[in-house]
Amino acid sequence: MAKIQVKTPIVELDGDEMTRIIWAMIKAKLIRPFLDVDLKYYDLGVQKRDETDDRITTEAGQAIKHYGVGVKCATITPDAERVSEYHLKKEWPSPNGQIRSILDGTVFRKPIIVRNITPAVRSWKKPIIIGRHAYGDIYRGVEMKVDRPGKVELVYTPADGPESRVLVHDFKGPGVVMGIHNLEKSIRSFARSCINYALSERIDLWFSMKDTISKKYHAFFKAVFAEEAAVAQADFDKVGIRYRYMLIDDAAAQMMKSEGNMLWAVSNYDGDVFSDVVASGFGSLGMMTSVLVSPDGKFEFEAAHGTVRRHYYEHLKGHPTSTNSVASIFAWTGGIKKRGEMDETPAVVAFAEKIEKAVIGCIEAGIVTKDLVPLMHPQPAGYQSTEGFIDAVAERLMAS
Ligand code: NAP
Ligand code: MG
Repeated sequence: MAKIQVKTPIVELDGDEMTRIIWAMIKAKLIRPFLDVDLKYYDLGVQKRDETDDRITTEAGQAIKHYGVGVKCATITPDAERVSEYHLKKEWPSPNGQIRSILDGTVFRKPIIVRNITPAVRSWKKPIIIGRHAYGDIYRGVEMKVDRPGKVELVYTPADGPESRVLVHDFKGPGVVMGIHNLEKSIRSFARSCINYALSERIDLWFSMKDTISKKYHAFFKAVFAEEAAVAQADFDKVGIRYRYMLIDDAAAQMMKSEGNMLWAVSNYDGDVFSDVVASGFGSLGMMTSVLVSPDGKFEFEAAHGTVRRHYYEHLKGHPTSTNSVASIFAWTGGIKKRGEMDETPAVVAFAEKIEKAVIGCIEAGIVTKDLVPLMHPQPAGYQSTEGFIDAVAERLMAS
């Protein structure tokens, strides 16, 4: 079979641990044999980031900006434990966080739904997509430990005007403080990305903050979102969808009782937490895809889970593993599909859809990794190894 030509390069970001192993298998068994694609490769494995003083991460982000489409493997965000485990120079910042700030994008997470897996939350019938703001808040926070009595203030010194101050707290003893910020430009493009995504998927858009408590910071987000939603009202009416603002706790409660089928836009931290809640509610982290969309239309696709550290340690001991590769496969297919759409090469889009069909076909035939077995009706008698599952997908792909 002749390979399908991909016109424009795709940026490939390699990663760490178990997902790095899966990533290589996917590339070797599902992509390379079928596609003639120029992959601009960046190794974001933690050792390479350390070796390059993390320049490689910035370069990878710039490459996505340049070429328009990237696919990313999960990576370690080092903490103190990882620094000693991998003998790193320091706790390098999260690569995802860095790429998000380079692209100023929004992360959308969408569960992969299959017939024979019912979500843990019984009312959920359709995907709940989380739109996570990808800039600022605690991810760009500055912090201080206060170890003795003293005053902490926020000081704003405008470039051309008198300074203003507010008291954070007059400490009588030890404590801790944090300063966080956000940018109108980023909030606005977040709102726009969410509106565009909701319109293109024809699903309601929810937005949640806590403006009853935070009457300036959170209220600012609410106001910017409301302005952008008002601009898009005619488009909402045209496709028959609604924009709703709700307090974050109210939205969380309503989300649990809903059928799904909405885009829930949330702040950076809420998105971090609720995307994991929604992912496990739908079944497995291994079945959650994630895409970072920039306001100027650049895309980075990845799995929503981490590097599956526990499985990697088993693998290193020579023990068999059964790690779900579905979300990583869908990172590749998402990127390939988007590349094909942007290049206007329908054969490329069709090939990515063929891989997805082969994956869904396997799962619906009961060919799955261990994590999915308890979620399935009927439950299959056994499960596949990490590699066995990918081989089964490759077999189906070749037969299709
Ligand atoms: P994790 O990789 O998300 O895995 C946590 C647990 O969830 C696993 O031990 C496993 O449960 C289950 N799981 C997740 N993905 C699975 C899959 N594909 N197949 C089967 N089971 C799966 O989190 P972690 O192991 O705590 O974190 C490891 C590293 O990932 C951390 O260093 C963190 O910085 C990084 N991380 C990266 C990203 C990213 O790059 N996008 C996101 C989150 C975390 P069982 O052990 O019960 O089988
Ligand atoms: Mg998280």
